[in-house]
Amino acid sequence: MAKSVVSIVKGDDPVKMVEDVLDHLGGVTSLIKKGSTVVLKPNAGHPGSAETAINTSPDFVSAVIKTIQKANPKKIILAEAAAIGCDTMECLETSGIKQAAVEAGVDDIVDIKSDKDLLKIPIRDARSAIQKVLLPRFLLEAEHIVNLPIFKSHCSMVFTCALKNMKGVVQDKVHYQMHQTNLAEAMMDIWSVIKADLNIVDMIRPAEGFGPHFTMPTDFGCVIAGRDPVAVDATACRLTGLDLDNVPYFGPAHKRGLGNFKKNQIEIRGRSIEETRRVLWFPYLESFDKYPEYTIDTTGACSSCLSLVGLTMERLKSLNQYDDNSEVTILVGRKKKIPENIPPDKLILIGDCLKKFRKKGIHVEGCPPGEPAPHWAIVDRMTVSADEVDLTDPEILKIVRARMDEEAAPLIEHMIKLKAEWDKRQENK
Ligand code: SF4
Repeated sequence: MAKSVVSIVKGDDPVKMVEDVLDHLGGVTSLIKKGSTVVLKPNAGHPGSAETAINTSPDFVSAVIKTIQKANPKKIILAEAAAIGCDTMECLETSGIKQAAVEAGVDDIVDIKSDKDLLKIPIRDARSAIQKVLLPRFLLEAEHIVNLPIFKSHCSMVFTCALKNMKGVVQDKVHYQMHQTNLAEAMMDIWSVIKADLNIVDMIRPAEGFGPHFTMPTDFGCVIAGRDPVAVDATACRLTGLDLDNVPYFGPAHKRGLGNFKKNQIEIRGRSIEETRRVLWFPYLESFDKYPEYTIDTTGACSSCLSLVGLTMERLKSLNQYDDNSEVTILVGRKKKIPENIPPDKLILIGDCLKKFRKKGIHVEGCPPGEPAPHWAIVDRMTVSADEVDLTDPEILKIVRARMDEEAAPLIEHMIKLKAEWDKRQENK
């Protein structure tokens, strides 16, 4: 396989950075055909202001639109499908992306979740349970899809960047199914039928901490770009000190022919990794030894579920629920057998790979489960099964969101304290 090219630029002017990063790839006119239709796919999955870095920054989106206009496309469309239960237009508005895109001269803004002109696309050789997917015609017919993720930590994938951002082109139902099957493979399945041909990553102010919802933005001043999403993601990890072995999908993505992740398979242009690198805080990857009061068996678990358990423990601490629930045993990861002597209300089984034992304890569905689910299973001592509760029902989603919002403030306060402790440890290294 030929080497993949990834370009890296540093600076403080988003327009110049986007122009420069594309110049290292041959320039915008060589990447975008004159008279073409270009769809821009930002990350605007959750309502949150630009300051939160939950979504791609409006200045960056504006810079991309202004740069792409120089290639004289026929039409530039900004399109997004926000996270399950989130209103896409609300996310685009609260993030400032909508206004920035309009001011920059975007031709159209589309909420993929409301689009009715959908085509059913079979996924040949699907590795997850997603065998077919409904995708908007305009997206399938566009000459270019330009993926515009922001880099941030993520509880079910350790981090989110180019590969994961394309998950946001599906309707809520498929999005939900993706979390009920193997999420990493489902992501690859979606990429196998709809590919971005250019990825430009907003690393101007990426987010550390308990992303995707509880982010801690940090000045990084960088933009990276490339055609190969796997190489782009691998480069972003190297820039932020994230060990690729901690990410569940590089191997599967390479095997699926989506791109390269090894250093010797990637040509870096512009700035080098060494001169740009700064280690970010990924609290999900810290050891479980700091929770000695709990019995946690993580044998056989993927990093997605490990991250989720880490977040769960910190959620318990932030809400003063940690001491009151320490009698539970938490099991996560593939296991042939589980302890027999634990009362079912004190045994928390996290993830679909423990589904076969669900009658022996409180089971948390999903592969990996959704973010608050393990925490709520521990405090509520209740199994919530998709067979019994329709978690795509807007009324139920409203209740879920309200509870998440209520629990957010203490967790953010707790996260700021943890980050200060981490900074101190880094200084003393
Ligand atoms: S449920 Fe099991 S297989 Fe799925 S992400 Fe979690 S540990 Fe991995």
